Amino acid sequence: MNFELRQHFQIESARFLPHLPAAHPCARMHGHSFKIILSLIGPLDPQLGWVMDYNDIERLAKPILNELDHRVLNEVVGLENPTSELLAKWLFDRLQKLIPLLKYVLVLETPTTECRYPLN
Ligand SMILES: [Zn+2]
Repeated sequence: MNFELRQHFQIESARFLPHLPAAHPCARMHGHSFKIILSLIGPLDPQLGWVMDYNDIERLAKPILNELDHRVLNEVVGLENPTSELLAKWLFDRLQKLIPLLKYVLVLETPTTECRYPLN
């Protein structure tokens, strides 16, 4: 019997998308309050009755998120083209090593846009 946990985080980051035409607004340096949502799927610990302690998820995820918070994403190794898609993959590839139950990462660059990686 599996359950899904989701935990929400927020980072403030600057970026520009270097491969867009100069007239595109995202080609210019700008900032986002990115919402990052981590989804974990796993069974209940029979004694504790939960999948994983949210405090432990936060403790493991924070150092990775801090590498991006109040930074220019383009200056982070691996994020030279920091689209939401590539940001979601960058985060998943690092966080999944620390949090094996991590199923996917959602990146919201605005309240109305979401990017999920991976899909399964
Ligand atoms: Zn943007």
